[in-house]
Amino acid sequence: MIRFNDSMKYCQIKTEAILAPFFSAAINFVYAPTCLFCDQEVNPVGHNFCESCRSKLKPVHSLECARCGAPVGPYTDLTRGCGQCHRETFAFDGVIRLGVYDGQMRLASLRAKASGGGSLARGLADLLVYQKRAKFDEQDFDLVIPVPEHWTRRFLHPHYAAETVSRQIARRLHVPWSREILLKSRRTPKQATSPTPLRRQQQQGSFAVSRTRQISGKTILLVDDILTTGSTAHAAARTLKDAGATYVIVAVIAVSPLRK
Ligand SMILES: [Zn+2]
Ligand SMILES: [Zn+2]
Repeated sequence: MIRFNDSMKYCQIKTEAILAPFFSAAINFVYAPTCLFCDQEVNPVGHNFCESCRSKLKPVHSLECARCGAPVGPYTDLTRGCGQCHRETFAFDGVIRLGVYDGQMRLASLRAKASGGGSLARGLADLLVYQKRAKFDEQDFDLVIPVPEHWTRRFLHPHYAAETVSRQIARRLHVPWSREILLKSRRTPKQATSPTPLRRQQQQGSFAVSRTRQISGKTILLVDDILTTGSTAHAAARTLKDAGATYVIVAVIAVSPLRK
């Protein structure tokens, strides 16, 4: 039975959906949209970056390894991954990324990570989906999950880029999103200078799944902002697979140009 309150709510949602494009057009008329990276006026086409910034954020080499996202040359044999990853074991099944953590992309990623970087983080997520739509469409994702951080870090730094990026990707792909399923159960040291074997050791067993039933047999899109050695994404994907996930693809804004 539909109650009066429910039907009022339904009318309100319906009205909002009908009026949304008009509001959006009116806002664009009053406030011309500007590029998220240089403030130049833009005509949004699925993302808010001007052509100049979009080309600056593009990696020099357009080809990439589907297994780890590393940039590769045109004649690289990718049967077992690229030169950077063929000796590595990953629990995830592939990487979709926007760029390489270098030059302007490094600058954009740092700004998106910093306090107040929410709109740039969402913009980079929009650009990632816009540029890599075909790759995202190859899978039928059931759920989008951010690589979580420990609650103590969240307490100190409320803006968390991986979460913002993942939520925006989920919105664009129309896939459910949750930050409650995969949790960081133990704090791990900052890893920028640790060698890969040590990073793997530090990350091992540092994630936990709270709702196994929701990921059993599912295809998961696991999202982080940057992929450095892949140790964190590997440990998170391992935890998801141990809890029953069938397939885990990692999506990031950028991958490190050289991983050791
Ligand atoms: Zn620009
Ligand atoms: Zn690779």
